[in-house]
Amino acid sequence: MSDKVIPGFYSPEVPYTREEARASVGPGWQGLVDTAFETVTAVGGRIQQVKEKFGLLRIYAKVPQPMKQGIDAILYELEVQSRNVCEQCGAPAYLRKTSRYILYVSCEAHKRPD
Ligand SMILES: [Zn+2]
Repeated sequence: MSDKVIPGFYSPEVPYTREEARASVGPGWQGLVDTAFETVTAVGGRIQQVKEKFGLLRIYAKVPQPMKQGIDAILYELEVQSRNVCEQCGAPAYLRKTSRYILYVSCEAHKRPD
């Protein structure tokens, strides 16, 4: 079963590790990923996937009731925070757009050429 699993893709059978989550986004967001893991595992939940989506950090988690709503709010807050944290270095940053309309978050130093 597990030999058919493609790394980085969500599978209900195979736990998604913190290492996989960290490898899925840039080094500047590792602190946000760690916070997400600690928050979710503290209430017996688990992270299902972490990725960059529309430029921002997106975290999918399975959280038992009745904590789900509160944890979802915290994860959403981390997503909002990622808008101002450079994905490459963690410095204060902005959500930017390339000339090809690819969204990403970076500081001045890590701006992508257009
Ligand atoms: Zn940077």
